[in-house]
Amino acid sequence: MRYRTATTKDWLKTGFYILLYLKVIVIPMIFLPPFGPVGIAAWCLILAGSTYWLVRWHAENTVYRCLECAHLFTISPLTDLITPHFPNQKYLECPECGRQSWATIFIRCK
Ligand SMILES: [Zn+2]
Repeated sequence: MRYRTATTKDWLKTGFYILLYLKVIVIPMIFLPPFGPVGIAAWCLILAGSTYWLVRWHAENTVYRCLECAHLFTISPLTDLITPHFPNQKYLECPECGRQSWATIFIRCK
């Protein structure tokens, strides 16, 4: 598996996607609730779809290195969504050694 450290361009791309995500969920939040339960249901669908898109994109484009054994591994979108993290670290259980640690995030090269 090929990987590299994150560059400024990667951080800007991530920031752009997060801003796009926020725009996609905030604008409908303003205009859809007056339509009652149908509007709220539509907004919930937009929220779920946008969240899934953002988290799947992040999970598919990152790779993690265990702090304990240096094993490289990927994670599922669900794990990506629910685990605690900082900008360049994520608290994960290593599939190789089974220990939990603040794994370092790298960009996956395709
Ligand atoms: Zn490990």
